[in-house]
Amino acid sequence: MAKKSPGYECSSCGHRVSKWVGKCQSCGEWGTVEELSPAAVAVTSGASGRSGKSSAVSLSGLTPTSPARKVTDIDPSGAVHRPSGIGELDRVLGGGVVPGSAVLLAGEPGVGKSTLLLEVANRWARQDRSVLYITAEESVGQVRQRAGRTDALSANLWLAAEHDLETALGQIEVTRPELVIVDSLQTLHATGVEGVAGGVAQTRAVAATLTTFAKTTGIPVLLVGHVTKDGAVAGPRTVEHLVDVVLQFEGDRHSALRFLRGQKNRFGATDEVGCFEQTSDGIREVPDPSGLFLNQRDEPVSGTAVTVIMDGRRAMPGEIQTLAMETEMSNPRRVVTGIDTGRVATILAVLARRAGIDLMGHEVYAATVGGMKISEPAADLATALALASTRHDKVLPDGLVAVGELGLGGEVRRVPDLRLRLSEAARLGFTSAIVPASTRDADRVRVKGLRIIPVRTLGEALDQLGLAKEARRKYPERRKKDRD
Ligand SMILES: [Zn+2]
Repeated sequence: MAKKSPGYECSSCGHRVSKWVGKCQSCGEWGTVEELSPAAVAVTSGASGRSGKSSAVSLSGLTPTSPARKVTDIDPSGAVHRPSGIGELDRVLGGGVVPGSAVLLAGEPGVGKSTLLLEVANRWARQDRSVLYITAEESVGQVRQRAGRTDALSANLWLAAEHDLETALGQIEVTRPELVIVDSLQTLHATGVEGVAGGVAQTRAVAATLTTFAKTTGIPVLLVGHVTKDGAVAGPRTVEHLVDVVLQFEGDRHSALRFLRGQKNRFGATDEVGCFEQTSDGIREVPDPSGLFLNQRDEPVSGTAVTVIMDGRRAMPGEIQTLAMETEMSNPRRVVTGIDTGRVATILAVLARRAGIDLMGHEVYAATVGGMKISEPAADLATALALASTRHDKVLPDGLVAVGELGLGGEVRRVPDLRLRLSEAARLGFTSAIVPASTRDADRVRVKGLRIIPVRTLGEALDQLGLAKEARRKYPERRKKDRD
């Protein structure tokens, strides 16, 4: 892996060395030693050769930090993605790991970052490529045990337990792997830097050093970064600007599902989402998460409706379940999980005022299935239909999805990516879809196998499902009052 290099220079004090080091021996800074390009060497040595002679301009001040190179001289492999072996990770990375890049995997403790990266190490090693897993969190024995449990015992996978950054770099030098995984940023210690490991100064020094290491050697580095709510440990936010890629690994404590999202990616888009499932023996990819958020039942139940939400570029059908119970209480309970509480309150108000479906005297429960989190207004229409369905105890048609944002006037507004959402619904076997009506013919969406029901208002949607008639029958006087 070692490249021919003319030398290295500290960007902080200018000290030159022939071999890359993480810490400058002259000024003690971490991560400041960078490779000199051949052009820079030529310019500076030429300048010093003429110094003191007739030249009025000192060329040494012009040393380009990153000199231009002929496009034909640049190794194209420098920007090529190398598949990690985990499709869901590669999807978020934009195709794989880029040589010389630093990738930060951020997430709360216990979410499964180490498990995921051990699996990355395993898949990488299985492709006949070496990988060094440096752990400052556990002992080598503990990682070995985990590797045994998750079937990650490959001869190309190297383990080292190090707490000291300098020793960790030494390990890399000896092993010369094709991928380095560091677990974690906050537990490695850089000598000579103020503060305790995990503090802002320490975390920055470790991240800066490992990033310059990756750039100098071409060896990609994956870094674990802990995010904690109380802020006791310096969060990945303090190092985001140093690394090339920031991935967020997240999941609910009560669910086995984990999502990997790109937050910053110098080599690809950030709107992809990877889906994983934590199992008793490690972590498993879920390449087709659609259907996870739907209830599997034989008999249809009132109060439920299915919508299709977008997570990055991924469309996922999700079920909304509601339950309304009459109560004498003046301030009835509203218990909402997975959906924004304020959004549900708004939908309840719109239902009452624009459709005559009043749940004021009812306890209302609303929830998603499978720990799905809905923040998109596109789920409004389905939420409203579910609530109308539970209010009248009338089951919605089988195979129906509803997509649309509700306005305060009861109008159904258009949502982005309608075609993507409906295609996914059709693929999963849904047969009809209530969608916002388009004013333009050209925008009308057609999806094979799906009956499209365009509506302009919530009232039209309820009409289509026979729920409006129900409301008129039950509250004729209220309807009249609203019109006056
Ligand atoms: Zn220095």
